[in-house]
Amino acid sequence: MTESSVLLHDFPAPDSPIVGVLGIQGDIEKHLAALERLSVRGRRVLAPKDLEGLHGLILPGGESTTVSKGLVRFDLVKPIAEFAEAGGALLGTCAGAIMLSRAARNHPVPTLGLIDFETERNAYGTQRDSFVAPTDRESKPGWADMECIFIRAPRILSPGTDVEVLARVDGEPVLVRQDRRFACTFHPELTDDLRVHQALIESFSR
Ligand code: GLN
Repeated sequence: MTESSVLLHDFPAPDSPIVGVLGIQGDIEKHLAALERLSVRGRRVLAPKDLEGLHGLILPGGESTTVSKGLVRFDLVKPIAEFAEAGGALLGTCAGAIMLSRAARNHPVPTLGLIDFETERNAYGTQRDSFVAPTDRESKPGWADMECIFIRAPRILSPGTDVEVLARVDGEPVLVRQDRRFACTFHPELTDDLRVHQALIESFSR
């Protein structure tokens, strides 16, 4: 291997895909770092123009009340819906999953309604506010034994017929997919397991 091919591998090539990370609040840097490890360029999204040329968009975890208000304040609600309609891939993690759901229960917040499931906020109660658990063996092929970090996590309720449950923890859906749109109730940016980010990238690379 020549020195230059090592460099090309280590750093995103100028024509590599670009994935946006919604920059309102939450684990923005960690998602950008995960993308960099997969040699994909990342970009903070804080305005409609930031969506131009993106292949995918990540909505990080954080506080869904704040994120929901921010989406309105930065005039991003309609542009994100149009981005998804045009085939842009989406990944919502934790509070981001709440944003993508069709409705949030338990201290409801306005959501984007881009994946057909509901969420129950802070569904695991105070005792299990935060916990780490592996995905079930019975998850879809390739999704078993993934360590998941849950932080005041929501629960995924009543996924529609177009929604595939990729992974479960204790029988509960924790990662779902509807076409190029993914949502998970845990924080994939906090572990070394990059399967979720990889799946997002593969969804638009094929
Ligand atoms: N509990 C938060 C909410 O409902 C989500 C927590 C998280 O994203 N880690 O907005």
